[in-house]
Amino acid sequence: MRRLSTIAEVRSELVEPRRAGRSIGLVPTMGALHEGHLSLMRRARLDCEVVVVSLFVNPTQFNDSADLSAYPRDPERDAWLAAEIGVDYLFAPAPEEIYPPGFATTVSLAGVTETLEGAHRGRAHFDGVSTVVTKLFNIVAPDVAYFGQKDAQQALVIRRLVRDLDMPVTIEVCPTVREGDGLALSSRNAHLSPADRARAAGLHRALAAVQEAVDGGERDPDAARARALTELQAAQIEPDYLELVSAETLSPVRRIDGDVLALIAARLGDTRLIDNELIRTPTHDRGVATRLGAPTTA
Ligand code: AMP
Repeated sequence: MRRLSTIAEVRSELVEPRRAGRSIGLVPTMGALHEGHLSLMRRARLDCEVVVVSLFVNPTQFNDSADLSAYPRDPERDAWLAAEIGVDYLFAPAPEEIYPPGFATTVSLAGVTETLEGAHRGRAHFDGVSTVVTKLFNIVAPDVAYFGQKDAQQALVIRRLVRDLDMPVTIEVCPTVREGDGLALSSRNAHLSPADRARAAGLHRALAAVQEAVDGGERDPDAARARALTELQAAQIEPDYLELVSAETLSPVRRIDGDVLALIAARLGDTRLIDNELIRTPTHDRGVATRLGAPTTA
C-alpha cells in the first residue's frame, strides 16, 4: 500500500491505471478505522482493481470544535489495517492541502439536508460533507465510491449530489456493521464510559422495537414510535430525535408502508451517536413477516 498526502501524488499515481482502463474504487473515511470502515474496503477490494482509501478528519463538517479536537485519531494503526485488507493507496492529506488559504467554495444541497442531522447539527454539517466529497471525487475520479448505511442521511445527500451535478461515479451503500448487542460501530464509541456503552445498546433495541411493532401489524408511525421510546426510557436515553420517515425523501410518513427509515440520534454522556434501520413492511402475498436480521457482528 502506498501512502499519499498530496493531491498531485494521487493524480499522478492514478494516471496509469486509468489509462489502462482499470476500475478505481474510493472509500472516504475520517480514520479511527473499525470493522464498519473495513467492510467498505473489503467490498471495494472485491469490486475494483484499484482501491483508494481517504483518511481526512474534515474540519468543515464539525459543528462543535470540541468534537473536532476530541475526534479519535490513530493514523499508524489505520494504515496497518488498510494495508492488511489490500488497499492500494491511502490518501491522508493535511487540512491545508484540502483547504488552502483563500478557499472560498461551498457545495450546498437543499431538501434532504434540512431535517434530522441537518436540523440538529446546522446547515454547515452537510455543506462540509458535500464539499469535501466533491473534492475527493475530483481528486480521485473513482468509478465507484463506498458509503455506509450507518450514516443514512449522508448517503442520501451524496446520491442527490452525484445525480444533481452529473458526477460520473456509482455510489454503493453498504450495510451497517454492529456489535453483538446491536450497537452500530462508530469511531465515537471509544469515548463512551462503560456505563454509557451498556446503555447505548438501547438505541438499536429502540429501532428493533419499531420493526417488531410493524411485524405485529402496527402501521401508525406514532404508535410504533411510542414503542421505541419505551425502549429508550428503559435505557434512560433521551433522544435528539427519533423519526420514521420516507427512505427516499426523509419526509415524515403518515402511515408505515413501503420503505420507511427509522432514525435516531442521542447523546450519551458527551458522545453523540446516530443509528437507523430500514423498516420493512410485511406483505400479505409474501406470507411471512420480514424481520430485522441478526446483527452483523464485528
Ligand atoms: P466516518 O469515518 O465516520 O466518516 O465513516 C466513513 C464511512 O464509513 C462512512 O461512509 C460511514 O457511513 C461508514 N461507516 C461508519 N460506521 C459504519 C458501520 N458501523 N457500518 C458500516 N459503515 C460504517
